[in-house]
Amino acid sequence: MKDYYAVLGVSRHADQEEIKRAYRRLARRYHPDVNRGDREAAERFKEINEAYEVLGDPAKRRRYDLYGESGGIPSVFEGGFEGFGDPFSDLFNLFFGRGRTRAAHAPRRGSDLVTVVEISLEEAYRGVKRVVEVPRRQTCDSCGGTGVESGYAMDLCPECGGEGRITHTRRSAFGTFTSSTTCRRCGGMGEINTHPCTRCGGGGAVESLDPVEVEIPAGIDDGDRIRVPGRGEAGYMGGPPGDLYVEVRVSEHEFLERDGHDLRAVVELSMAEAALGTVVEVPTLEGTERLTIPAGSQPGQVFRLPGKGMPRLHSRGKGDLYLVLDVQVPRDLTAEQRRLLEEFQRLEAEKRRGQGWRERLRKAMRPQH
Ligand SMILES: [Zn+2]
Ligand SMILES: [Zn+2]
Repeated sequence: MKDYYAVLGVSRHADQEEIKRAYRRLARRYHPDVNRGDREAAERFKEINEAYEVLGDPAKRRRYDLYGESGGIPSVFEGGFEGFGDPFSDLFNLFFGRGRTRAAHAPRRGSDLVTVVEISLEEAYRGVKRVVEVPRRQTCDSCGGTGVESGYAMDLCPECGGEGRITHTRRSAFGTFTSSTTCRRCGGMGEINTHPCTRCGGGGAVESLDPVEVEIPAGIDDGDRIRVPGRGEAGYMGGPPGDLYVEVRVSEHEFLERDGHDLRAVVELSMAEAALGTVVEVPTLEGTERLTIPAGSQPGQVFRLPGKGMPRLHSRGKGDLYLVLDVQVPRDLTAEQRRLLEEFQRLEAEKRRGQGWRERLRKAMRPQH
């Protein structure tokens, strides 16, 4: 039978505080993280945890003192699985938390926050700074996040004596049954807050509307998210804050349609403009650009203005601007227009005389080159 007192190097009369201190000291020394690959240390670490699992719990310690290692009780009755927690969680709490407290007292990172900003295509083109106001949980500066009024401290829970658990023992003909439940008074924390902070009501955090300046880079696309580190919710128990994500919505432009880095626009021409050729002013994100349309341009024809598209995010260069021709067929002609178009049609027919459909087909079938 192992002597758990010897394992922890304490006397049989040591009090719980002494046992806890001895365990903490040894666990640190033999922790696998500081003794990588050392099998002996790993074995020792296991032993120390095993010893503390029993001696660290007053009820189990009593049984150990009376009956020996297993307490003389079949292990299935050892308070079910509840009695034996993960030895590492206790260790974690000893290192990072306070005493035998549970996860509620461990440092936790604050949650991330998401907010949406809408910008114009021009702003997406140039890049823009925006101030967003996000309601966020921040560490209460009155109590520093502890939730306890300054000048006071947490009190040991009178219900469980700081253990966080209440052990129930029942005797029967088959032996002693023990079970333990989480202390209701302190919720398993072992401590209670008898002087909650007046500013935050004991929660350790306050909600405030926090203006955050966000730099939206040139070339940002609709739906892109910008991460602002550390501007999310405050952390818990000294944990780091979360991040703020700003989701960008780019509103639609009157003329320009975005396609990745490129832009597209439709240029509307009259029938005569398309036939005769013209110069048109087309919208770009830097103002307007003059585009020469050659005579005989067709509907659907595309003109490319290189470098007049959107900037590439976090890189050099810009996309292109594509202009698609749309030719409008006049709907309500004046008498004069009608006369001229009829004249035009007559001249067209004259031009094509001798070019019947058979002849035109033959021409079309001939190789072009
Ligand atoms: Zn309690
Ligand atoms: Zn407070």
